[in-house]
Amino acid sequence: MEDDNMRLILLGAPGSGKGTVAEELTKLYGVEHISTGDIFRANIKENTPLGIEARQFMERGELVPDEVTIAMVGDRLAQPDCEKAFMLDGFPRTIHQAQELDKLLAKKGLALDAVINLIVSDDIIKTRLSNRRICASCGASFSVTFRPTKVEGVCDICGGNVIQREDDKPETVLSRLKTYYEKTQPLSDFYEKEGLVLRVESEVDHMGTIRNIQKDFLARGIIQE
Ligand code: ADP
Repeated sequence: MEDDNMRLILLGAPGSGKGTVAEELTKLYGVEHISTGDIFRANIKENTPLGIEARQFMERGELVPDEVTIAMVGDRLAQPDCEKAFMLDGFPRTIHQAQELDKLLAKKGLALDAVINLIVSDDIIKTRLSNRRICASCGASFSVTFRPTKVEGVCDICGGNVIQREDDKPETVLSRLKTYYEKTQPLSDFYEKEGLVLRVESEVDHMGTIRNIQKDFLARGIIQE
């Protein structure tokens, strides 16, 4: 398969490493990374109507309503850079979103290649999220324990302010996990039925996770040696 035709979904709890894995897969295959969380955060920063709407849900650790999210992803997938190939990170997050995505792809005569499900225990998730810091300007992700910035509070990449995401505070993390188990976890069964799921352990080092994904891609013929 041509890399520019790869269509992937990254599934996994908050803090399972979707963003990091997406970054590596983009480097390897050049596939466009679409993170709904990043798009919402950019809109919040710019104070757009979409940002104002999304913010109230995100701050509570709840999902932004399906209509809003589906329309936003539909617009993004209509743009030329990801018309045929893309890697969705954080979408779909409900069965309804998955069904709408299927319809949208069917209209274009396209199908998904794989759904990568990143598996991590709750304890690791809670530690990762409480340690995570992000750059308020460029969105780069750091960790006070595993990937600290060289200068405290200053982004290594762009010099921006490094902060804790509002929804990474402990009370919101619990609500995000509850939302994940209720609304998003059932999606692995949904895609399992289509034979698309690739379960990958994501607890130790992310490069090990990437190597396992590559092995699976080879076995499925998504990439060639
Ligand atoms: P994480 O995976 O670490 O929870 P994200 O950046 O993917 O972080 O998402 C942050 C928040 O953005 C979610 O808690 C939710 O409020 C909102 N969000 C992101 N993607 C979706 C989606 N597909 N549907 C509804 N809400 C979403």
